[in-house]
Amino acid sequence: MDETQFIKKYTDSLNKLELLVFFSDNPSTMDTADSISIWSGIPVKQIQEILDIWIDQGLVKKEGVIYYFQPDDHELLSLSKQVVQTYKSTRILFRQELDQISTTLEKEKRDHQTALSKEIGKTDTLLQNITEAVAFIDNTKTIIKCNRVFLDLFPQSQERSPLSFDDIFHNVALKEAFSELIRKGGGTYQGPIGDRYFEVTVTSIKDENGETIIDDYNEVIGYFWVFRDVSDRKKIEKIKDDLSRMITHDLRSPMTGIFTAFEMILKSGERNLPENLYKSCQLGKRTSQFLLGLVNDLMDVQRIEDGVIPIQRQVISLNQIIAESLEHLESLIKDRQISVIRSITSELMNVLGDHDKLIRVFVNLITNALKFTPKKGNVSLSLKRCDKKPAINQTLHLADNPYALVTIDDNGYGIPEDQLPHIFDKYYRAQQSGRSIVAGTGLGLYFCKLIINAHHGEIWAESELNKGSTFFFVLPLCKEI
Ligand code: ADP
Repeated sequence: MDETQFIKKYTDSLNKLELLVFFSDNPSTMDTADSISIWSGIPVKQIQEILDIWIDQGLVKKEGVIYYFQPDDHELLSLSKQVVQTYKSTRILFRQELDQISTTLEKEKRDHQTALSKEIGKTDTLLQNITEAVAFIDNTKTIIKCNRVFLDLFPQSQERSPLSFDDIFHNVALKEAFSELIRKGGGTYQGPIGDRYFEVTVTSIKDENGETIIDDYNEVIGYFWVFRDVSDRKKIEKIKDDLSRMITHDLRSPMTGIFTAFEMILKSGERNLPENLYKSCQLGKRTSQFLLGLVNDLMDVQRIEDGVIPIQRQVISLNQIIAESLEHLESLIKDRQISVIRSITSELMNVLGDHDKLIRVFVNLITNALKFTPKKGNVSLSLKRCDKKPAINQTLHLADNPYALVTIDDNGYGIPEDQLPHIFDKYYRAQQSGRSIVAGTGLGLYFCKLIINAHHGEIWAESELNKGSTFFFVLPLCKEI
């Protein structure tokens, strides 16, 4: 028999090897199974089983309840000694290997912890370097983390810890506005805080897939608040507003006069005018028409903002409004050589709304799609019914009612990602880099937003630079009459 055969037959488990080592280290042991178990550290049940097997195999003898190690012959004794030796040296190597593995694991754990604290440090540094006031507020309204700008903005928050939302916002109107944002699951608030004007954006805390993180009680775990000081922008807007109010008021009548004069000259003298004079009059008519359009746009926006133009409400069909809007745009569509693909539901999409203003919304959006798409491009227009809040935009703050969903899609220049959130702002015009400047006022989309919101709808856009833009709006459908 060789060593391997001995191991297979007599010591085919770790406990048997350990017991063999025990007997080899303590050759004069004569004891009960219980005591041997205590001395060797092997559970008594296993000791009993091994000893019984070894008695049958002639490695161990038993007198009464006393066991002792005494192999039947010399070969068994020397083989057991060899196996013990081999096992002991392997055990040392094995222990060394194990020690090395646990040292490596320890080191990895330490490295990981250092990297983690560095990451936390980085996030903190990032937070402290943001120029806006930023805070994370959990669902119990406790402020988990905020930056220095936030503490400077709300100095009272420096005195308390933990900080609660209610400790900071004492102003009842502000508190109510912010609570409403939380109830809605996020949104934007614009208004004064102290003597400055702020744009406050509240978004739920999301995971790396952009999904809102929910706790075990099915509640949003918290919100990310950003307070952007827009006082300077507001001041400029106010100056622009005052100026444009003054200009529009003084310009409208003379502009109408100039436009009508050119129109009359062109009508009466069409055949008699020399060609260059005729062309100049046409240019004069076009320019004054553009300026008059601009003045009218400005006045309309001002009157809507002031609540002076009420929204007429009557049952109108969006299918009809689209047909009329496209009629208005016939010559522009031809001129731009753009095919307008229509996908209009045959179902009547009736809304309670203002016929003329909704036509202007469609005309503005389709005109933009035509303006910002190279000649011979494609524009698609679709109208369909949604039985509840459309799934394509989960941030919409709408009830789950039936809606008409309008989509105006183009394959034009697109809008840079950083400018997309601003295109519905008053006077905002995105920079279409590398493109020749397209005429406009930056009022069209602002007007559309005012009108759609006044109809209890929502408007938004998606865009990819050099691929195209898609404008969406939803309007609540009329209940069947
Ligand atoms: P404008 O009078 O400049 O057209 P709007 O308010 O209608 O003003 O639009 C604001 C800005 O949004 C535009 O100047 C343009 O940069 C961008 N925009 C609007 N519609 C589109 C579109 N379909 N494709 C690309 N950019 C668009």
